[in-house]
Amino acid sequence: MRAAVTNDTGRLEVRDVPDPDLRPGNVRVRVAACGICGSDLHMVESGIVPPGSIMGHEAAGIVESVGEGVASLAPGDHVAIDPFDPCGTCANCVAGAEQRCVNNVYTTLGLGFRAGAYAELVEIGEGMAVKVPDAADLGDVAVAEPLAVALHGYRRSRFEAGMSVGVVGCGPIGLSTIALARFLGASNVWATDTNEFRLDLARTLGADAKASDADVVFDCAGAKGTVDLAVAATRMGGKTVILAVNLKGDSTFPFVWVTREVDMFPSLGYTLDEYAECAGWISSGAIDVKPIVTRRVSLEETDEAFFGLLDGAPQGKVLITP
Ligand SMILES: [Zn+2]
Ligand SMILES: [Zn+2]
Repeated sequence: MRAAVTNDTGRLEVRDVPDPDLRPGNVRVRVAACGICGSDLHMVESGIVPPGSIMGHEAAGIVESVGEGVASLAPGDHVAIDPFDPCGTCANCVAGAEQRCVNNVYTTLGLGFRAGAYAELVEIGEGMAVKVPDAADLGDVAVAEPLAVALHGYRRSRFEAGMSVGVVGCGPIGLSTIALARFLGASNVWATDTNEFRLDLARTLGADAKASDADVVFDCAGAKGTVDLAVAATRMGGKTVILAVNLKGDSTFPFVWVTREVDMFPSLGYTLDEYAECAGWISSGAIDVKPIVTRRVSLEETDEAFFGLLDGAPQGKVLITP
């Protein structure tokens, strides 16, 4: 099969590589679409992805073949792929918080340890597949991943219908947070970004300009100072959710947290149930993610699209369609 593989200089090179194995209990999926994630960009930028890796954890596709013992899936099934494969035995898994599985870094698709979906085929566990109707657009379905990240943030903060929402940063996670706001019953949602193109996408999804402090404010930017920005834009006694992955570190000013007495909710990944809910909402048309996806590229265009995003190309979600 062909795959976009990280090379010695940290670029993404399309190569012929052996098809993935098909071990018992697993299925092989022909990838229809895989999103380029901000965390993929951050990982490559920080040089932590080993050469020879296949990244990609935001995928959907069609089951190509099933391994021994697989009962719930058959070739031809259309599936959304949950990239997490929690071990089920660590203390966090046993407690039902599988998003905190201590083995996730090794078992999750596309983080450098297990082959991801910037490829024609990907091998996944039976339990990582969520069946979707054949009629669903598999590119849209791939957006279930960032949508689930946003949903977990709502759940973490114990968001309730009628609350107002603020979003700092309108990349794919911020846009997903906006797309969920009305669906989950937010009274209103505002968004801020320094980029006019992304603000336009936010408006298309129903966000207003910031008018007042919100009950729940999400930091979806992960840039210097954005946690403090989010706290300062949360109403006194409200909730601030940190969804963004900031690998560069930041300093904050706790005085603002104290004087506003906000509750802080760092949010990590999502549960399998949350992922399946999001895949269902997208494939049934309950949530329209089309405004989030601004570009679809071939596997050959992966490197150009990837480094374009790192250079700040104005895009929402970019999908690779192998
Ligand atoms: Zn992602
Ligand atoms: Zn675990």
